[in-house]
Amino acid sequence: MTEPEVTSLRHLPAVATVLAAAETAPLLERHGRSATTDAVRQAIDEARTGLRHAPAAAPGTAELARRAGELLEARMPSLRPLFNLTGTVLHTNLGRAVLAEAAIEAAVQAMRHAVALEYDLAEGRRGERDDHLRTLLRDLTGAEDATVVNNNAAAVLLCLNTFALGREAVVSRGELIEIGGAFRMPDIMARAGARMVEVGTTNRTHAADYREALTEHTGLLLKVHTSNYRIQGFTAEVGARELAGIADDAGVPLLNDLGSGSLADLSGYGLAKEPTVREAVAEGARLVTFSGDKLLGGPQAGFIVGDRALIERINRNPLKRALRVDKIRLAAIEATLNLYRDPDRLAERLPTLRFLARGKADIGAQARRLQPAVAERLGEAFTVATGDCLSQIGSGALPLDTLGSAALVIRPCGSQSTLERLAAALRALSRPVIGRIADGALHLDLRCLPEADEDAFLATLSQLPGELVARSA
Ligand SMILES: *Cc1c(COP(=O)(O)O)cnc(C)c1O
Repeated sequence: MTEPEVTSLRHLPAVATVLAAAETAPLLERHGRSATTDAVRQAIDEARTGLRHAPAAAPGTAELARRAGELLEARMPSLRPLFNLTGTVLHTNLGRAVLAEAAIEAAVQAMRHAVALEYDLAEGRRGERDDHLRTLLRDLTGAEDATVVNNNAAAVLLCLNTFALGREAVVSRGELIEIGGAFRMPDIMARAGARMVEVGTTNRTHAADYREALTEHTGLLLKVHTSNYRIQGFTAEVGARELAGIADDAGVPLLNDLGSGSLADLSGYGLAKEPTVREAVAEGARLVTFSGDKLLGGPQAGFIVGDRALIERINRNPLKRALRVDKIRLAAIEATLNLYRDPDRLAERLPTLRFLARGKADIGAQARRLQPAVAERLGEAFTVATGDCLSQIGSGALPLDTLGSAALVIRPCGSQSTLERLAAALRALSRPVIGRIADGALHLDLRCLPEADEDAFLATLSQLPGELVARSA
């Protein structure tokens, strides 16, 4: 090391000196001693590394305190809001459904105050958690009884464990699904303690296949909505109504796992038809399971609706206690379900449905409206055009159905690596912008950008670093 380097390194203030400086006092007040100490240490480490590479005068305490302040402010929560411009409305990795205002308000109230979670206000004694939803779910689905757990995977697990522990669960080979991550039907069955009995073939399963598989060890019949794929061509499956008859004859329940399911007929909103829970119940399945945060548009949850005697057995299963939901989600679920009592205003109030029902013309007009302002913020290094695209519903609902939509299409003037750097810079914004790269362009599908968020979107884009958007980039 040269003489000046050693000298300037020796002049770097100690952590304790910076912590004691007047400039650090506001940081200690705002962020606490532990976090501030870490940030000061990091600022000094950075300075030391800098001095080793390029000898200069050592920064003073004021400069190090300023840098520590920057580091502390840059620690943004990792679960901060973002702009989902991927074109996938129910994006599992981005948290699926965005909740309705009524649900948000109910959740906030439940967080802030004591609530009658398991307390019967009329009688003044202990009540049940499920009481808050039972009537609503009965009215909306036509089922006799209902319960709610952590998610639909938990709902399926709980049903299998309650009715097929140490027994056989019969399922078609065409329905042995994997739904991303670790949810694979055969694995869930094994963990539930059920022996899986596969019937039929991948493409064709007949009523006789189920009948022949029934034994004294059968615990339940399972029908699974093939959410994220479709088998086409030379195919045959046994409908839920016929299967319910076979299960009833054998004296075992049919569990129909709808996956997304829906409480409203979506064909009224220009979407393809997804089976409604009410139809599944009417077809005779004794148990029907579905998700809270897919098409239903609520928080993560799993619903089990069906025969009262079966729901009672589920509620007596000790696993139920491990899979139950808390008061915050329960409040949000109740408020979300309540919206379904007023179908006329559902699309207005439920963001999931509002996004799904948006027409291409509306989104296209928004794209043309935003294009000049976005082009200005992306500077000379990129071109911004408007273009047609296709949105997806996501979360395995209606996998082959796409929705005509419109996007801002961003192309780099220079090399392709500039586009990757732009995508990374957009992800690093205080409110990250997530799009989709395809065909050498970044596509920002505007389906999930409400008009009320447009100003915030443009303001966020203004934070993009100047060196990225300048022509030299
Ligand atoms: C999505 C899905 C599940 C899992 O539901 P989660 O709410 O994500 O746990 C189970 N079964 C089917 C058929 C599904 O589509």
